[in-house]
Amino acid sequence: SYTVNPDIPGIREQTFIAVKPDGVQRRLIGQIVQRFEQRGFRLVGLKMVQVSEELLSQHYACLHRKPFYPSLLRYMTSGPIIAMVWEGHNVVRSSRMLVGETNPAEAAPGTLRGDFSVHISRNVVHASDSVEVAKKEIALWFQRSELIEWETCDHGSIYHP
Ligand code: GDP
Ligand code: MG
Repeated sequence: SYTVNPDIPGIREQTFIAVKPDGVQRRLIGQIVQRFEQRGFRLVGLKMVQVSEELLSQHYACLHRKPFYPSLLRYMTSGPIIAMVWEGHNVVRSSRMLVGETNPAEAAPGTLRGDFSVHISRNVVHASDSVEVAKKEIALWFQRSELIEWETCDHGSIYHP
């Protein structure tokens, strides 16, 4: 277990991040993980998964009626995904900014999508879009026992003690 400074609100906030099948195929896992690590977030869960349509239909429940939904399902089941949970202050919003706009054409250089993708149908990474959604996605993709509580030795340098 580790000590948490109660003066820093949301320090235990968590988000669900995934390297989508195109990111795995293109050997971008390391670079994507690196961006979250170097920012100062803590990795609390990571696994490689070949997901079922059943899980994806829950994950993308809001998109069932979209015309691109069938191709989105084929894309997301086309190969393995790296599923991760990252933790830290404001991690949900910060991760969306790290990942960039949904459409890579609008994603700024320096963002993952802005640096590594061209088309909306192959945008390499997923990030939860709100704290509430993050909780649901983490519960959908991970068992509690797969999430690790641990302390990083630089904690006090990232969050003032
Ligand atoms: P996100 O939260 O930024 O990933 O975006 P959404 O939740 O709106 O959409 C989920 C995923 O569906 C996106 O990341 C894309 O992979 C895909 N998607 C969204 N809009 C479109 C679209 O207009 N066309 C296609 N082909 N895929 C889309
Ligand atoms: Mg979304």
